[in-house]
Amino acid sequence: MKVIFTGAGPGDPDLLTVKGRKILESASICIYAGSLVSPEVVSLCPDGADLYDSAAMSLEDIIGVIVKAQETDTDVIRLHTGDPSIYGAINEQMDELDKLGIDYEVVPGVSSFQSAAAVLKSELTHPEVSQTVVITRTSGRTPLPEQQELVKLAESRATLCIFLSIHKIGQIARELIPFYGEDCPAGVVYRASWPDQEVVRGTLKDVAEKVDEKGFTKTAMIVVGHALGRGDQRSKLYDKSFTHEYRKGK
Ligand code: SAH
Repeated sequence: MKVIFTGAGPGDPDLLTVKGRKILESASICIYAGSLVSPEVVSLCPDGADLYDSAAMSLEDIIGVIVKAQETDTDVIRLHTGDPSIYGAINEQMDELDKLGIDYEVVPGVSSFQSAAAVLKSELTHPEVSQTVVITRTSGRTPLPEQQELVKLAESRATLCIFLSIHKIGQIARELIPFYGEDCPAGVVYRASWPDQEVVRGTLKDVAEKVDEKGFTKTAMIVVGHALGRGDQRSKLYDKSFTHEYRKGK
């Protein structure tokens, strides 16, 4: 018996991994994050599977379901939105499983920042502009280490993928302008890959106003950086003077 932490992807069931899909299709017990995992993904579980929405459950409740499943030697699928490794709170669950000696594995998923980049048709890295992508959030109930406040990260001028923060878009734009400039591209994708997906494209100067007009208040990804702009710099990877051997080494 084991627990399989599985990435549900951003929403569209076709963005599940093949492995994730197979696991769901043979699930007997699935605990899913109901606030974010698409019902279409959950419905891949067979009829008759025991489904638990973790939105209404404490850590103890979740572990309780797992311990009960252990009695009948039944695997438990713990379905997390996007990729479980990002803001998934899987550590605390794994710590409890370690204490109980219960085995587990992790199956990755397509994260919402990747899905948002696809919707924006953007490469998050661009030669000599940004070779670094930062996954971050603003502080909320979960405080941030001081060295990781947005204004500290902004000094790098890396591409930023900002989770869990759409309600602070105005403040985010104001804080970033001194580092990135007000003309820096900023994209926001609301419910990337869901049927009601929406996109806002703008600059740090106008993105907050555009988001306010749309009224997004949650489940949105903010992507900021000059890499989002279409320039005329070409990646050296496709430069004719680069040998095939060099590419292979990369
Ligand atoms: N593990 C998830 C993130 C969970 S935190 C992942 O890898 O994507 C929840 C935050 O993720 C939301 O506040 C939002 O910022 C982002 N998010 C999740 N699904 C999203 C989607 N379909 N579109 C845009 N943002 C999404």
